[in-house]
Amino acid sequence: MSRIDPLVQQLGKAAQAFIDRQKAQILVGGQWTDPADGAFFTTSDPATGKPITQIARGGASDIEKAVKAARSAFDGGPWSTMTPAARGRILWQIADLLEANIDELAELETLDQGKALYVGRWAEIPGAIGQFRFFSGMADKIEGSTIQDSIAYQPEGKQVFSYTLKQPVGVVGAIVPWNSPLVLTAMKLAPALAAGCTIVLKPSEDTSLTAIRLAELMTEAGLPDGVLNVVTGYGAEAGAALAAHKGVDKITFTGSTATGRAILDAAKGNLKRVTLELGGKSPVIIMPDADLDAAIAGAANAIFFNAGQVCIAGSRLYAHSSIFDRVAEGVVSAAESIAMGHGLNPATQMGPLVSSAHAAKVADFIADGKKSGASILCGGETAGENASFITPTVVTGVRPDMRIAREEVFGPVLTAMPFDDVDEVITASNDSDYGLAASIWTEGLSSAVRMTERLQAGTVWINGHAMYDASLPIGGIKQSGWGRDSGKAAMDNYLNLKTVCAIV
Ligand code: NAD
Repeated sequence: MSRIDPLVQQLGKAAQAFIDRQKAQILVGGQWTDPADGAFFTTSDPATGKPITQIARGGASDIEKAVKAARSAFDGGPWSTMTPAARGRILWQIADLLEANIDELAELETLDQGKALYVGRWAEIPGAIGQFRFFSGMADKIEGSTIQDSIAYQPEGKQVFSYTLKQPVGVVGAIVPWNSPLVLTAMKLAPALAAGCTIVLKPSEDTSLTAIRLAELMTEAGLPDGVLNVVTGYGAEAGAALAAHKGVDKITFTGSTATGRAILDAAKGNLKRVTLELGGKSPVIIMPDADLDAAIAGAANAIFFNAGQVCIAGSRLYAHSSIFDRVAEGVVSAAESIAMGHGLNPATQMGPLVSSAHAAKVADFIADGKKSGASILCGGETAGENASFITPTVVTGVRPDMRIAREEVFGPVLTAMPFDDVDEVITASNDSDYGLAASIWTEGLSSAVRMTERLQAGTVWINGHAMYDASLPIGGIKQSGWGRDSGKAAMDNYLNLKTVCAIV
């Protein structure tokens, strides 16, 4: 059984003060209040199972009030009528406040989600800050176009002047998952606000803390009342009510493919617009001419970062058969050197999964793989006082029809498979319901560029994996989703295009 380092570092003062409040309410129309039926649930530290604090269990009537508040902030309110530059300044101020409170936010994220502190402190929260900065600059770059039409039936002496306007969609429902809570929330909120929309946010029931702290900082930054409303609670309650609400103009969702389907069903009542960022089963392809040291380290990081709870995790490794044994050995050695422990321990490289329930699901995938004849090269154990850690796992002898090779495990579990030529690896990579991301490791750039065209994925990296920036669009094809977050393209999620034709 692997060693799990104990918690050696306590929370900083600010994060401790947040926890000491002992309960977190919902935010509606600028007021923090208890939910309508007064219900709360306990959120716990996944590493230990110990309770952290009480979170409001919002329901349909809270969603009703929150949508009303967002509607009145949109219709009559200051946000959609404020100058774009003024909206941009508030977004920039939000980024400044996130930066000023980065240690507190990173600690809260780790305590709630389990992730190693460095993941939040150096990757995800800077990523969230980057989203607010990037979309701060987009607020005053919303442009329609003038169009030279060919309409020939205007009255004598007149002409037609045609142009398009881009206008905010209205009230946006944002529903987000637990794996990287703050940065994924920022990917929704920043472009929606830049576009002039108002929002009802439903964080994951497993990780509400940083959403609440973010909302407080956004108020401090000058966001007017009702522009952002936060209703915490369960997916089947608050989430379903938000997805189905006829007063919501748009749902922007990140989460599992199964929930994405439920959201689509719920959204059909008023045919609201929907953006879906869903699951993945992303291939990492190592060609025989790759820089193997970099490729092995990259493949290990692609699956073990954030304990594999990453939508774009490189969970299927394809290494050319001439180098397969060396790659497998290298990834196993990287897996076995990972320091596991409580996320707040600064030495920890991998924390627990988000909950013991999720760890049990991951363990079930591993057991199923073994039963179907796969071999576990390393890891595969459940560990820790709350049975929430899974040791970094590498699996070989996998057939493409096995569950472990096809379904999203969402844990530190890599399936490694050999291939002999480019056609074979492209076919194997594309043999998936998902199409989120892929990486190719090679020194032959021209063949890699040609491979990028054939891979069915929303993002392809060459000699890297999971390189992200607020300027780059993120999203998938096939059952990995509809639409893109991040980058300029995300603005169109929150804007309606209006065509105007005038006889002048
Ligand atoms: P999930 O689908 O279980 O939950 C996501 C959110 O949806 C939560 O807030 C949950 O409360 C809510 N929800 C659940 N049921 C609902 C319903 N019926 N109606 C409305 N809302 C509902 O996902 P998760 O387990 O929290 O997150 C992991 C998943 O997210 C993985 O599949 C991962 O790949 C995906 N993900 C995708 C991306 C991307 O950009 N494509 C990014 C991160 C995570």
